[in-house]
Amino acid sequence: SATGTADIGLIGLAVMGQNLALNIAEKGFRVSVYNRSSSKTDDTIKRFQLEHSDFLGELEGFYSMESFVRSLKRPRKVVIMVKAGSPVDATISTLEKYLEPGDLIIDGGNEWYENTQRRADALSSKNVLYMGMGVSGGEEGARHGPSLMPGGPLEAWNLVKDILNKIAAQVDDGPCVTYIGPGGSGNYVKMVHNGIEYADMQLIGEVYDILRTISQKNHFEGNLYEIFERWNRGALQSFLIEITSQILQVKEKGNLLVDKILDQSGSKGTGMWTIQEAAKRGIPISTISAALDARYLSSFKDLRVSLSYQLHGVGAKEQNNIISSYGWNDFEFLASELEKALFAAKICCYGQGMALIQKASLDEQWNLDCAEIARIWKGGCIIRARFLDRIKEAYKRQPNLLSLLEDEHFVEDLNNCQLALRRVVSGASLLGIPVPALASALSYYDSFRQEILCSSQLIQAQRDFFGAHTYKRLDKEGVFHSKWSEDG
Ligand code: NAP
Repeated sequence: SATGTADIGLIGLAVMGQNLALNIAEKGFRVSVYNRSSSKTDDTIKRFQLEHSDFLGELEGFYSMESFVRSLKRPRKVVIMVKAGSPVDATISTLEKYLEPGDLIIDGGNEWYENTQRRADALSSKNVLYMGMGVSGGEEGARHGPSLMPGGPLEAWNLVKDILNKIAAQVDDGPCVTYIGPGGSGNYVKMVHNGIEYADMQLIGEVYDILRTISQKNHFEGNLYEIFERWNRGALQSFLIEITSQILQVKEKGNLLVDKILDQSGSKGTGMWTIQEAAKRGIPISTISAALDARYLSSFKDLRVSLSYQLHGVGAKEQNNIISSYGWNDFEFLASELEKALFAAKICCYGQGMALIQKASLDEQWNLDCAEIARIWKGGCIIRARFLDRIKEAYKRQPNLLSLLEDEHFVEDLNNCQLALRRVVSGASLLGIPVPALASALSYYDSFRQEILCSSQLIQAQRDFFGAHTYKRLDKEGVFHSKWSEDG
């Protein structure tokens, strides 16, 4: 069939797709767009007309899949940005009728990685290439430079790398996109990114709770946002810390808007997938789990309100004693301990996510490059942070690092910050402030530094006691079963 002139096509013009299409056109490409319902196509064309004056490329809208496909240069490259799951299947089934061998489909949604592998296998019989590409950075990222995580056949990457390199966020060491690996690895890495994002947000939330509680008790005169602003100039520098300081400046009738927000946090599924995947592969990601649990727990608003009148914490006088015994009347000192605690917990939480990626990479033979993954998260995405540079360097030093906790630089950081994390977790607990993510990070840290885990010794004995599961010994080879009681 006739060949068109557009460099790339994009289907699905909701928030993400529309912004990505404008980004592609801005960078000098000819992009064709299509959406199931025509109104979003109209909106996209209107936005293009308003914004395009300094664009290097072109955008053209289509109202039938056939004319859309015909407008594309061969081999055709089509990005799909529709709702994940069955809408992607529905879109592919219409689209594939018009495609030819050598053409390429890229799903940019938050898709379950096995769905991507299933679709890639189905399309490969027609010699149509298929990729699953994680896109992070929300609306802003899509429009001005997201972090992109494309996975699939290498030849597919080669067809689109020039475009992806230009539309991705740009940082000091290159565009925030790389060829992730084969199969559904791009979706997988995006899924873990989101899991880490949950944990990072929860950790910041807990630290904020501590700051806010103590500042109110002690009638602290300053502004909390200034603490986050300061942290954002140091080792904690990140998008999430930056937006926190901005959020803490937004007022409504003289009061902080955040205080008026209903305290129930939602989730859309990638966090849950991360936990399920980690459990399936036997990788502990307790801080990420704690973050997801905290969101689930938040939804029990009525129960929380009722229990707030029934279950005891510590009294006001005792709280004041705790605050002074920790030295936290000195707000600067409190802030510096929280900064260190947050940094230590962050190392644990990113370490958990990276360990899951490493394990999946081994199991699935994806051969993923963790240094590159950390690098492309440095810009564009929600977890972008100065800290990712250190993770990149750690994996450059030792590409097969089993745990980030083993890296010599992180060992030094953890040793410098562990006492602060300990004091923050214990102090918050004594004050009755819930810190599930910080506490899980501390236990993760403490568990990994035990040469002998006594709790596991006892568990093995219990398992052998009631189930004759047998156990191994530290002092000799073999498998053992003991008679643990008179009647056992
Ligand atoms: P969305 O709300 O997830 O999806 C809306 C789009 O899907 C519309 O174009 C809609 O077409 C299309 N659609 C829904 N059902 C369909 C079906 N059965 N057949 C064909 N098309 C169908 O859009 P989004 O928020 O822009 O997200 C797109 C993808 O990016 C999702 O996978 C999302 O998880 C992922 N993502 C989103 C963000 C974000 O910040 N929003 C960030 C990263 C990744 P109609 O207009 O015809 O209804």
